[in-house]
Amino acid sequence: MNIKTKLRLGIGFLFMMILLLSAVGLRNINALKNDTKNILADNYNTLEYAKNMIAALDVIQQNQNGFPDFEKNLNLQKSNITEPGEKQATEQISLRLVKLKENPQDVNLHLLIRKDVSRLMELNMAAIQRKSDLAQNTAETANQWIVITSTLCFLLGMTLLVNLPGNIANPVRELTNSIREIAAKNYSQRVYYRGNNEFGELANSFNTMAEKLEEYNSSNLSRILVEKMRIETLINNMHEPVIGLDENKIVLFINNEALKISGLRPADIIGKPAQDAALNNDLLRSLVDDLTQTEKTDNQQSAPLKIYADNKESYFEKEIVSISITPTGEKEKKLIGHVIILKNITPFKELDFAKTNFIATVSHELKTPISSIKMSLLLLENQNTGHVNPEQQQLIESIKEDSNRLLKITGELLNMSQVETGNIQLNIHQARPEQILEYALEAVKVQAEQKQIGLVVEMEEDLPDVKADTEKTAWVLINFLTNAIRYSQQQGQIHIQIKELNSGVQFSVKDEGKGIDSRYRAKIFNRYFQVPGSAKTGTGLGLAISKEFIEAQGGHIGVNSEIGMGSTFFFELGRG
Ligand code: ADP
Repeated sequence: MNIKTKLRLGIGFLFMMILLLSAVGLRNINALKNDTKNILADNYNTLEYAKNMIAALDVIQQNQNGFPDFEKNLNLQKSNITEPGEKQATEQISLRLVKLKENPQDVNLHLLIRKDVSRLMELNMAAIQRKSDLAQNTAETANQWIVITSTLCFLLGMTLLVNLPGNIANPVRELTNSIREIAAKNYSQRVYYRGNNEFGELANSFNTMAEKLEEYNSSNLSRILVEKMRIETLINNMHEPVIGLDENKIVLFINNEALKISGLRPADIIGKPAQDAALNNDLLRSLVDDLTQTEKTDNQQSAPLKIYADNKESYFEKEIVSISITPTGEKEKKLIGHVIILKNITPFKELDFAKTNFIATVSHELKTPISSIKMSLLLLENQNTGHVNPEQQQLIESIKEDSNRLLKITGELLNMSQVETGNIQLNIHQARPEQILEYALEAVKVQAEQKQIGLVVEMEEDLPDVKADTEKTAWVLINFLTNAIRYSQQQGQIHIQIKELNSGVQFSVKDEGKGIDSRYRAKIFNRYFQVPGSAKTGTGLGLAISKEFIEAQGGHIGVNSEIGMGSTFFFELGRG
């Protein structure tokens, strides 16, 4: 039965009950009304006439004047005969009245008429009594009917009241719950409703929709699962160790290579916070530390990792990639995790070692012949060796310049190989900043004079000693100064400042040269790096070695420069 019919029937039924109650009430009221009306019309009037006839009889006993009144009431009574026996009594009175008219003073006749009238009254009073009992009965029956009908209506009304709202609301609630389940992605949800009404149709449509959604979802899910497996296989087959973390640093995946070098088992790490797993694993600890640092300092290149893998020492370069996505409907990017990739750079490292060793050997071996060339040049310059004409003197000067450069280059290369092999021999002691400065100024004096460059020194008084290797620190300062001279204009000025800072003493060299483009500023401390377009006279090693020397002494090196505004190179060393 559909809801419309149900509602119609329910309301119609209530309407019918109201009608039924009204009909029963009306019927009974009518019956009562009829019963009481008869008493008045039939019996009360007869009693009235009888009373009047008695009164007229009293008058007749004294004179003849009472006859018309008596006859009038008798006639009225004749037309109001309603009870059995009433007719005979009335006729008896008529007959006796005729005789009374002939003999008005007949006492016996008077008595008989009075008796007949009394009989008439008795008959009617008995009828009143009977009719009153009947009315009583009718009233009781009416009461019973009304009680029965009301109870029936009440029971039926209650049944409707209890069942009808539920009948309509229950399927709606069930459907609402099912829709909520679907919204919560529980696509297996169905509505079971047996009935041919609108809810049945709705439930059918809902179930069809849920089925389609389930089908769509499972087809998508299986596609995603296949994709996931494909990517997992890809990651597992990568030769580089890869670890994936979510935004809370929970490990999402780790490939076979990463498991091999870390010695972990998947169960030890997958689905666990990286920090927890790192407690028992050195490699993971260093990676997690790096991850925290990367978040703080924007992707800085860190030193390669040395790991014992494949039965030999292997080197890995870490790359930490932050994964950010823009969620659908949003504008802001959101970090959803990190992927740590370790690039195996062992073959490059091995080549690098071979190169460093080669450079060290070659530069070491070259030093002796270059020194002997310089020696020979000195001898050549000596007048005792023989006369040298101006052209020869010029050649000697040029050979001297070249051998000096060669010596500088081999020196730098040797320093570099020392740095690369980690063999820097530092002789750290308390050193006076003035002494370091004097040493450096002495070394670059001639170069500065050649370009007519003024060296302006600003040095605070009572500077504290610094903890440094005088020779290496002076080498760094010389490198700053030679660069400053090289990149300054003829007759320029170079400011050398030494000042005390909270953390120690700062040495800085400021020139008025062309400055360094911001793009290259971070790179100039890298080995073999030369700013594109600058004079290719050097090796690109000076600043890299300077950085290694200063950092090995626990200091800090840096540069402030703007293109066209000159450059200020500085380093800081701790107090002695
Ligand atoms: P190089 O031997 O080439 O001078 P460095 O390591 O000393 O090697 O310097 C690296 C690069 O930094 C140089 O090639 C040059 O381009 C740039 N540079 C160094 N000092 C200065 C400076 N004072 N002014 C401008 N550029 C400089």
